[in-house]
Amino acid sequence: MQNKTRCPDSILAPILAHAAQAVGATLDGVSVKITQGHGAKMAGLAYRDTMAIKLTLPKCGPDSVDLAYRFWALCAHELGHIRDYQSLLRGENLEFSYYTNAHSQRAMRHDSRPQEVRAERYVAEARARIASGALQDAPILDLAIYFEGCR
Ligand SMILES: [Zn+2]
Repeated sequence: MQNKTRCPDSILAPILAHAAQAVGATLDGVSVKITQGHGAKMAGLAYRDTMAIKLTLPKCGPDSVDLAYRFWALCAHELGHIRDYQSLLRGENLEFSYYTNAHSQRAMRHDSRPQEVRAERYVAEARARIASGALQDAPILDLAIYFEGCR
C-alpha cells in the first residue's frame, strides 16, 4: 500500500482488508495507492492490466460516520472490480461491456455496465451483512473517529 495521505496505515490498511474480505477479493498481488483529497470529495479507479486500485481519501465531512462508510463503500466497489479480475484469471467467465452493442461505439451509461452492476451488488450484500451484525464494522468506525479529529 502506497499511502500518500495524512491518515496512518494503521487505519487505512484495516479498511482495505475489511472491504476486500467483504466483497470476496484478495489483496495479494494488488497494488493500492491512496492520495489525500480535499473536503468530502473521494474517488477511486481499478485497473485490470496492472491489478491496481487508486483511491482518494476525503479530508472531512459534516458527518464523519457517513463519510467513513462512503469511503469504505468506495474501497469495496473498486475491490469488487478486483474480485472480478481475479475471477477472470482463474478462468471464470464474466460479462464486461462498455458499449451499448457490439456494432455501436455508443458508450453504455457507466452505472448500467454489467461490471458496475456486479460491483454495486457485492457492496450492497456486504452492507446487508454489516446491518445484520454478521460482519463487524470496527475498522469503519476507527476511520470515522479519525475524520472527527480532522476538523
Ligand atoms: Zn466501478
